Amino acid sequence: MTLRDYHIHSSFSFDSRAPMEETVKTAIKRGLSEIAFTDHYDPYANAPQAPDFDINEFFAEIGRLRTLYADKITIVAGIEAGQAQLYGEHIARFLPKYPFDFVIGSVHNVTGDIDLAFETYTLANVSSWLERYFLEAQQAAKTGLYDVFGHLNYICRYINKQDIPITIHDYEDLAILVLREVIAHGKGIEINVSTLRDKKPMTLPSIELIKKYRSMGGEILTIGSDAHTSANVGIGIEKGIELAKRAGFKYISTFKNRQPEFCKID
Ligand SMILES: [Zn+2]
Ligand SMILES: [Zn+2]
Repeated sequence: MTLRDYHIHSSFSFDSRAPMEETVKTAIKRGLSEIAFTDHYDPYANAPQAPDFDINEFFAEIGRLRTLYADKITIVAGIEAGQAQLYGEHIARFLPKYPFDFVIGSVHNVTGDIDLAFETYTLANVSSWLERYFLEAQQAAKTGLYDVFGHLNYICRYINKQDIPITIHDYEDLAILVLREVIAHGKGIEINVSTLRDKKPMTLPSIELIKKYRSMGGEILTIGSDAHTSANVGIGIEKGIELAKRAGFKYISTFKNRQPEFCKID
């Protein structure tokens, strides 16, 4: 089975200390054929214009590792750009300046720079938070400033962690609004398997939504571990491929110069 991990953070991200080279070496050891570094560009109101790391250094290190490990692994230069619904103009100006192969568009924060990972969810407020997240995710999807939409239903991870019981029926209609925009813009989604490592394992999105995306005509799909440590690179990718197959996918996408290619699942 060909393994590709299309969502990895390195020490260029504020929330990771993983040296790129360490991750590359681990990925090779685990037999991955391809990895995409997708460090964070999370714009905030007080710093919307660019990532908080040196982007030239990021590309220089990728270039160095590509040369060093050319015969062992393909390294994709990506970025995880957050909050296009709020900072779309900045993201639109930033992306074309650099030779990215691949862009994940994610919503971590909603209006007011509110990070959904740190909210308190209760039975009383959960439906309004779901609505708030998915409606902003729909706006982000509408911008088309991404190749795949990152961890659709991100908020569910934190609701799950706080033991608030919700089911797909609580948010399916809202998630469909996002998927509609993704497909209308010729973009894709990822299966983010980072949450398989949670105490209460799940995937983002769940199998129901991956199936729904397929039935709506969605074709572009990547799988990512969202590893923030070198040890986690590639973890869960096989499970992600299994889910993709169960949802009816025969191809996984790879990206070069922001163009998808379709690789048959073997
Ligand atoms: Zn993310
Ligand atoms: Zn990420």
